[in-house]
Amino acid sequence: MGDAGKILVFVDLPDGELDETGRGLLSYAARLAGTLGAPWSAAVAVMPDRVQLAAFGAYGTPAIVCIERGAALLDTPSLLGKHLAQLARDESAAVVLLPHTDLGSTMAPIVADALDGAIMTELVTVRKGADGVRLSRKVLGVRIAETRVWDGSRPLIVTVPPRALSQVIMASVRLTAPSLVAWRPAVPLSAAMATIIGRIPPDPQTVDLTEAEVIFSAGKGCDPATFDQLKELCQLLNVSFGVTRPVYDLGWTGFERMVGQTGRTVTPRLYVALGISGSMHHVGGIKDSRRIIAVNSDVKAPIFPNVDEGFVGDLKELLPRLLKQVKAEIGGAP
Ligand SMILES: Cc1cc2nc3c(=O)[nH]c(=O)nc-3n(C[C@H](O)[C@H](O)[C@H](O)COP(=O)(O)OP(=O)(O)OC[C@H]3O[C@@H](n4cnc5c(N)ncnc54)[C@H](O)[C@@H]3O)c2cc1C
Repeated sequence: MGDAGKILVFVDLPDGELDETGRGLLSYAARLAGTLGAPWSAAVAVMPDRVQLAAFGAYGTPAIVCIERGAALLDTPSLLGKHLAQLARDESAAVVLLPHTDLGSTMAPIVADALDGAIMTELVTVRKGADGVRLSRKVLGVRIAETRVWDGSRPLIVTVPPRALSQVIMASVRLTAPSLVAWRPAVPLSAAMATIIGRIPPDPQTVDLTEAEVIFSAGKGCDPATFDQLKELCQLLNVSFGVTRPVYDLGWTGFERMVGQTGRTVTPRLYVALGISGSMHHVGGIKDSRRIIAVNSDVKAPIFPNVDEGFVGDLKELLPRLLKQVKAEIGGAP
């Protein structure tokens, strides 16, 4: 790519706020700009208020362009995508970056089509090589991993999965006071209209574990009573549950709940290992989780060196108390 090719990052502001995904995307854009030696700016569909503007500034965002009446287009991603493509053209953007969310993954192919660009979804890493920019992605856990080279001859449209995003602000990032301008296409745009009339979020109880955001997993340290309590806790917290192989072998769950080398390789935001010793066959399937917490009654359990936070405790005591507390918190029966 030409070194000066601009990066335009589309940031969704759910309820007008820069959420975890938006922050992660800005951090990603700042890093990408450093890697490619390119300038960057953000595009939004909702006008950010002063507080949100400061949050953009914390990530070093140099400039923000707000698509006029963009909020009204959020339920027609095909039309919003056309607007974003036109904006990218007006801004001479070489790279358009979107979150791999419902909205971002719907818009990305529309933007790519309108710009006659190259597309890479679920991008994770970017490296500059002698032959061009090397783009790598992993999907379905690590079942599909591929690297492609982008030579910069056409605009590049990429989506980044929220699980690969980190909100951490790099030390090299300088605080900015981003400029904010409204933009509208010179000629009104239209698109074959498909209006979203509702969204059904994935059910953590049934979603494939490779796509789960938060997983609580039961190991052999659970007995039938604590296992039932754990399942109830997962339902109350609306998170997914997994198991180790010995628990699967007991016939307490289906194979699709088994995590590890022969089970699912998972990459959630949070993995909570309960009564799991931490064998390499299990840890190999969870090591790319963003945060791992473990509870085990054995202070020497091999899981502990592999986690972000470890607690020594007995599940027979902990789970009933946790369940009681969660029920009290959400107003359920004590
Ligand atoms: C080829 C091969 C492939 C495999 N693939 C997988 C795989 O995909 N996934 C997988 O999980 N395993 C897999 N295994 C099995 C793996 O090697 C381990 O045997 C297994 O992960 C151990 O499961 P566990 O931690 O639940 O049980 P254990 O190793 O028995 O550990 C139970 C833990 O619970 C703790 N504990 C006990 N009571 C309590 C309590 N009351 N409160 C708190 N903690 C308590 C104990 O201290 C212990 O650390 C595979 C094995 C092989 C040979």
